[in-house]
Amino acid sequence: MKKIRKFLLPEAEMPTRWYNIMADMPNKPKPPLHPATKEPIKPEDLAPLFPMGLIEQEVSTQKFIDIPGEVLDLYRTYRPSPVFRAWGLEKALGTSCKIYYKYEGVSYAGSHKANTAIAQAYYNKVEGVKKMSTETGAGQWGSALSFACKQFGIDLEVYMVKVSFNQKPYRKLMMNTYGANAIASPSNLTDAGRKILAANPDSPGSLGIAISEAVERAAKDPEVKYSLGSVLNHVLLHQTIIGEEALLQMEMAGDYPDIVVGCFGGGSNFAGISFPFVRENILKGKKTRAIAIEPASCPKLTRGKFMYDYGDSVGLTPLLAMYTLGHNFVPAKIHAGGLRYHGAGVIVSQLLKDGLIEAQSKYQKDCFNNGVMFARSEGIIPAPEATYAITGAVDEARRCDEAGTPQTILFNLSGHGHLDLGSYEKYFSDDLEDHELSNEEIEKSIAMIS
Ligand SMILES: *Cc1c(COP(=O)(O)O)cnc(C)c1O
Repeated sequence: MKKIRKFLLPEAEMPTRWYNIMADMPNKPKPPLHPATKEPIKPEDLAPLFPMGLIEQEVSTQKFIDIPGEVLDLYRTYRPSPVFRAWGLEKALGTSCKIYYKYEGVSYAGSHKANTAIAQAYYNKVEGVKKMSTETGAGQWGSALSFACKQFGIDLEVYMVKVSFNQKPYRKLMMNTYGANAIASPSNLTDAGRKILAANPDSPGSLGIAISEAVERAAKDPEVKYSLGSVLNHVLLHQTIIGEEALLQMEMAGDYPDIVVGCFGGGSNFAGISFPFVRENILKGKKTRAIAIEPASCPKLTRGKFMYDYGDSVGLTPLLAMYTLGHNFVPAKIHAGGLRYHGAGVIVSQLLKDGLIEAQSKYQKDCFNNGVMFARSEGIIPAPEATYAITGAVDEARRCDEAGTPQTILFNLSGHGHLDLGSYEKYFSDDLEDHELSNEEIEKSIAMIS
């Protein structure tokens, strides 16, 4: 076997289409419902929030969608992203498995979020939008969209979950540097924020709350459009460039994964790396296991309930048929801020329900252990979120070794952790907690869904 460490595609071979798994799903997701009427929403209902170009993608069943030229041009500033064979990690583990990882930290944003940020800003620009609002958890999404909006002459307001706003000032400064306005959420600028603060002035915030605020801005101002960095179908669609590229790169490596792993917040990077492989399973009888890894403290896929629930805390968004912990669930303040979301996308939820993908949960300390092992063996310091994917891959490798059946594992390293070194400092000073979530807590939160 050739000892190639890094597999880079020639530029011409960057995929130029996104893959829409809706076309190949045996059971389509249930339709989103209007929050007021509880009837299936019509594309027009979404028009105050999103440009038509993205709404069309949201409901599209067309299998492949061509990536517009201006989006391809910006993708080319960091794509194709590399696939590495994890020789160092394999050695550190002493595993007989082959481990590969696709590294999305090479984008300007340092994560996969750039893939959809560029696309979303572009479709807004096409329809003449001049101002957008969004929320951000740990700040990766906000910083990704800030630069993308700047490219297309759009002003951006970012509602950032307060705990991260305080823990991660560098992400906020990154947004400011790219020219966006970052606001700690809950804030006093919206009804949703004021309502939460009245009930709990010390609220650490959550993605659900920040979404409520950003949606309200767009819903109340016809000049403002809203943007979401995960969960929605069009976001997952844009991320499939990751898996389409990985398919080609694995082919160049003369290999094919038995297992594909991604960490899971709202589902976008997991969908990105795995959907093209799930397609090969559905259409060509391949048997790759696609495993989503979520935090034990926010276990919607492994312990949540499949039902209609709101995407935000206040109940402004459409009701989505998904695995959820309840829209009032406020997860513990783990350092993987991007994974602290109560729900999941409708496509991923349906695929999980139908057994076409799998889910596992992992504890924070284990993930940092593995993240540090990864940094020391591979040289890349992973984002706290990405340590969950690393842990998924490491645990599968160990399981395979114990069973004496080595396999080929591919995981998505969704981003680097250069702006999250404060979390590593806490880990080194043994200041990290693992949060045990009782069944009672989960049942109570789910019971509040109505
Ligand atoms: C946002 C983020 C995630 C989680 O979001 P998904 O939509 O589930 O991908 C994971 N990793 C990184 C680096 C992120 O920035």
